[in-house]
Amino acid sequence: MMTGFCDTHIHTRNSHDGKLSIANIADIAVKKGISYICTTDHCDFDLKYGGCHAPYRKYLNLDAYYEEWRSVKSALEASGIDTLTMCFGIEAGFCDSPAAKEAYRIAIDKYPFDAVINSVHCVGGKEAYFKSAFLFKSKERMYGEYLDTVLRSLDAPYPYEIVAHIGYITHGAPYRDKALRYEDFPDKIDDILKGIIDRDKTLEINCHHEMNPPKDILQRYYDLGGRRISYGGDSHKGELCAHYAEAAELLSEIGFTHFSVFKAHKEELMPIII
Ligand SMILES: [Zn+2]
Ligand SMILES: [Zn+2]
Repeated sequence: MMTGFCDTHIHTRNSHDGKLSIANIADIAVKKGISYICTTDHCDFDLKYGGCHAPYRKYLNLDAYYEEWRSVKSALEASGIDTLTMCFGIEAGFCDSPAAKEAYRIAIDKYPFDAVINSVHCVGGKEAYFKSAFLFKSKERMYGEYLDTVLRSLDAPYPYEIVAHIGYITHGAPYRDKALRYEDFPDKIDDILKGIIDRDKTLEINCHHEMNPPKDILQRYYDLGGRRISYGGDSHKGELCAHYAEAAELLSEIGFTHFSVFKAHKEELMPIII
């Protein structure tokens, strides 16, 4: 079993909002003593083929991303450094468009991904990072639509391992009380959590903005029998494992003992370090 720190959700400059090269990321990981990283740049076929609207995004050049990753991985191996496992992934922005789904199926088949993160960023065709997505919508309606989209995303017809940042909707929300609470949407959240468990997928704890999902939803996942959990730092400037300690403490209080990581779409477990 692998041991040490892991981060399964990392952006590089191949993402529209990432700042560092893959070589920079690998260097930081080695210096911080991290054992496992998976770079997961944004692949936004939801925008490209799904008509979803998100200003400022550019599309991932998968060929360039893979070539850069491969050359850094080869250089790491040639250097004799054996403390770091470097893996290759994407964050696939889900949408209902059949064309987007087909594009993901083809891309995921074409490249040797270790992990695919299934993320919902757009609700009703608009990126929920921006307040414009929330116009004229009550919190109950918007969060309900978001959760319905997450539930549909579980049936994405392409391989994925990780269900990202449930609660992402709260970051851009204009409401005075932004919190996503289990008690407000118990049926929808149960359907999602049971859906993750039934499909043998992995729930992510994402530490980019607020910690998502919040504790009550993590607790419910555990109570329903969910044990697969991944650590997603979701860093954009190389802040690898930045909130690992907080996440580890929270998860171990609930009862989780291991993080799931992936190699060639296969799960491996790493003990949560507290
Ligand atoms: Zn995301
Ligand atoms: Zn991300």
